[in-house]
Amino acid sequence: MGDELLAGFTVDTNGAWMGRRAARLGLPVRARFVVGDSARDIRGALARALEVAEVVLVTGGLGPTGDDITREVVAEALRRPLRLDEALLEDLRTRWATWRGTPLPAGNERMCRVPEGALVLPNRVGTAPGLVLDVERRMVVLLPGVPAEMRGLFDEGVAPLLRERLGDRLLALVHRVFHTTGIAESSLAERIDAGLPEDVGPVSIAFLPRLTGVDVRLSARATPADPRAARGLDRVEALVEPILRRYRYPAESGDIVECIAAEMTSSGRTLAVAESCTGGLVSRRITELAGSSEYFLGGMVTYADEAKRAHLGISGELLARNGAVSEEVARAMAEGVARAFGADAGLAVTGVAGPGGGSAEKPVGTVWYAVHLDGRTRARRSIFPGARGAVRERSAQAVLALLYRKLRGR
Ligand code: ATP
Ligand code: MG
Repeated sequence: MGDELLAGFTVDTNGAWMGRRAARLGLPVRARFVVGDSARDIRGALARALEVAEVVLVTGGLGPTGDDITREVVAEALRRPLRLDEALLEDLRTRWATWRGTPLPAGNERMCRVPEGALVLPNRVGTAPGLVLDVERRMVVLLPGVPAEMRGLFDEGVAPLLRERLGDRLLALVHRVFHTTGIAESSLAERIDAGLPEDVGPVSIAFLPRLTGVDVRLSARATPADPRAARGLDRVEALVEPILRRYRYPAESGDIVECIAAEMTSSGRTLAVAESCTGGLVSRRITELAGSSEYFLGGMVTYADEAKRAHLGISGELLARNGAVSEEVARAMAEGVARAFGADAGLAVTGVAGPGGGSAEKPVGTVWYAVHLDGRTRARRSIFPGARGAVRERSAQAVLALLYRKLRGR
């Protein structure tokens, strides 16, 4: 199985899952080793893992097939002779007969062999049990590779055991996430670095860029009784807040539409959208959130110049003079669509998504977008990097972010 992971045919979702669970428990992961189905590599990984950590979680290779050698290799490396556990075998025989109606194949008996001194975690959904070995104040846990079995055994057997044994030493991870949009990761990092003192105590800061913006995550680890984590987070939050303020949107889901929906609904305003290069993406984003009918009246994908003329009332002369990707046309689209739908607010996007269609004056990625709100229209231009899909995603986000800022009077 390890061979499959290394070759990339199977993705190591077990590693990611256990990492998240361990972090949540308060046990940060120091290292992760992925090795093939070779005794030498399994021994090597176990030895290195025991050098860096107190708890070693191992998954995979506990099954009945020839490539399942983890139990035997680990038992040998730790010098714990394997003994057949008769009760386990009896139980497996009975369950097998119930499931399959056939006697247990001989190869499966191997799974009931237990290293000396190991604690057995019964596997109720599969065949191979989990095994816990104490090794000089450290702990080695063997779990099957099948994700559902590994997860069940971890939650029911391993997590309670870790809590019991490490309880007061577990470092809970506390974090706060701030969603931002409209500022590049590097600019944000620069400003935050400049705004913070060298020593931010137990707090670490992560920047998580997405196409729609950058999430800033503050985290701190501390034992439950230690007030330093919360205090440290409060202090850092107070320092970064003024830097983030302009770009920040407080959406639980991470989607700025959530904030727009709240503003539009509470003020009783209505919205319409005219899109060119985003082809309906802005309308899709808005309507993805349940309850959008409260304020969203409708949208138009006016792709051709003719469509912009016929449906938004933009004059052929304006289009000819400025080109479809221009401030004038973006403004006229936002105003035109608000008029066409009788909406309080209108959004518009027009740009060159690429890969073709760029020029020296309007390179690929050039996008004009506009917000018409309360009788005023604001337009902005951006030149977005990336391929067609990325330009479209960024354009949709940009016009939504501009609307949100104007709704907040910023
Ligand atoms: P079994 O008793 O079913 O043979 P096992 O303990 O021997 O389980 P493996 O043979 O290593 O485990 O893997 C069984 C299956 O579990 C694999 O075919 C794969 O689909 C899945 N699996 C194993 N390891 C991982 C992993 N790290 N991440 C995701 N899936 C995995
Ligand atoms: Mg197997």
